[in-house]
Amino acid sequence: MVIPNFTHLRAKSLKEAVEQLSSKGSRIHAGGTDLLGCLRDEVFESNRIVSITQLEELRGISETADGGVRIGSLTTITEVANSKIIQERYRALAKAASEVGSPQLRNQGTLGGNLCQKPRCWYYRGEFHCLRKGGDMCYAYQGENQYHCLFGGDPCYIVHPSDTAPALVAFDAIIRISGSGGTSLLPLKKFFVLPAENVEKETVLEPTEIVTEVILPPLGQGIRSAYRKVRARQSWDFALAGVALVVKFNGDRVDQAHVVLSGAAPIPWRSKEVEETMVGRRLDAETISKASEAVVRNAQPLKKNGYKIPLFRGMVEEELLSIAKE
Ligand SMILES: Cc1cc2nc3c(=O)[nH]c(=O)nc-3n(C[C@H](O)[C@H](O)[C@H](O)COP(=O)(O)OP(=O)(O)OC[C@H]3O[C@@H](n4cnc5c(N)ncnc54)[C@H](O)[C@@H]3O)c2cc1C
Ligand code: SF4
Repeated sequence: MVIPNFTHLRAKSLKEAVEQLSSKGSRIHAGGTDLLGCLRDEVFESNRIVSITQLEELRGISETADGGVRIGSLTTITEVANSKIIQERYRALAKAASEVGSPQLRNQGTLGGNLCQKPRCWYYRGEFHCLRKGGDMCYAYQGENQYHCLFGGDPCYIVHPSDTAPALVAFDAIIRISGSGGTSLLPLKKFFVLPAENVEKETVLEPTEIVTEVILPPLGQGIRSAYRKVRARQSWDFALAGVALVVKFNGDRVDQAHVVLSGAAPIPWRSKEVEETMVGRRLDAETISKASEAVVRNAQPLKKNGYKIPLFRGMVEEELLSIAKE
């Protein structure tokens, strides 16, 4: 397939970008690593691409006045992975960013694009007019569903493709959105849309809205975090299964735990079942064993993705063991 012709505009200001996006059929271009593939594969059409790459205010990582961190949405995945402040304080995010695709993709891809990328279901990316494209059936449900979800699927069984999103949700990140109605803040956990709410949208964003920054709240004492990803190939690949863990200890007991799965559901999937087995307890062998059972308690495997069940169990067990040893 070839990419159809389109007009390419470089916005000089955020205001201009928002104005340009109000023309029907416009799309935002950040790093372009997902956008161009979507245009080529006819995932969506666009006759007008609005580049935001010249908006320098959307770049960079800085500390906020309250001790949190602000990351501009145009900051590259490599910059997030290599940032000292992210590595020291928000380790799960640095690790998740370092696991995205290949070095070339991390150099070109941005954090905002990573959160707004389209799903990778092969029917959706192929020539199938499925539910998510406005059609009337899900081809994956009875078809090739080995890379599809265990939770939250009905009526579309995609998994959310982002590695950074589960880590950001686990840290309670907030995003800033600018659009024709002004600027607003939104907890990232409310950004993603389940298929049962709207099968054609992955996020709450309107076509004229731009994610401008991600804000990580300050962390208290006693936090340990990790991100683990299992993929089919050692080279670049999306998560078959992944987990972001942010655990707050009070002495030797778990005070709070945020456990968010990737490769599991159409949105970054918070596993309350795992969190509940940990809070108030020592992170010993018994707790870890219960947590690794709990992660798949409410899973609903499809015909060909049952192998994800032991993957998630083993991954949660190994990551909790390594957090316990720190
Ligand atoms: C071969 C390959 C492997 C990949 N592997 C992984 C992986 O392992 N893990 C992973 O997480 N991702 C992976 N990706 C997905 C993705 O391309 C990158 O993660 C990248 O971060 C996307 O950022 P971008 O700036 O290139 O986005 P773009 O391609 O520019 O944009 C992606 C989408 O988001 C919209 N958008 C971009 N920025 C904004 C914004 N600020 N506000 C609102 N909307 C916006 C665009 O309109 C577009 O629809 C892979 C992609 C490819 C092609
Ligand atoms: S899983 Fe979703 S995107 Fe894939 S074929 Fe089914 S409806 Fe389409």
